[in-house]
Amino acid sequence: MSAETEAERARRRFDPVLRQLLSTHLVEPATDVDGAPVWRLSEMAQERLAELSAPPPPGDKVVYFSHHCARCDQRGPTRRRGEAYVCDPCWAVEAPTWSEPAVPVSNGLTA
Ligand SMILES: [Zn+2]
Repeated sequence: MSAETEAERARRRFDPVLRQLLSTHLVEPATDVDGAPVWRLSEMAQERLAELSAPPPPGDKVVYFSHHCARCDQRGPTRRRGEAYVCDPCWAVEAPTWSEPAVPVSNGLTA
């Protein structure tokens, strides 16, 4: 019994992936500048790869739904500002440089 060669091992590992690329039309036949046949990623695959490899949005663009606002203590959609989670109304009220978790401000409705 002969040992599996490197090429055989690679084929065994990659063939299923390559077949999947073909069956899902993520790759398509094309020709290079000299007219030789090549494979290239479909346009859809290239666009999606660009999206997936893009850096994550800045923290202040991500909306969190499970936090209380650090300023008014209301639970609702918040965004991160420094270490604090702040709702949109409070975000607009506070100066853009505000970054410390603030002591909740009395709104006159609570003692
Ligand atoms: Zn708030």
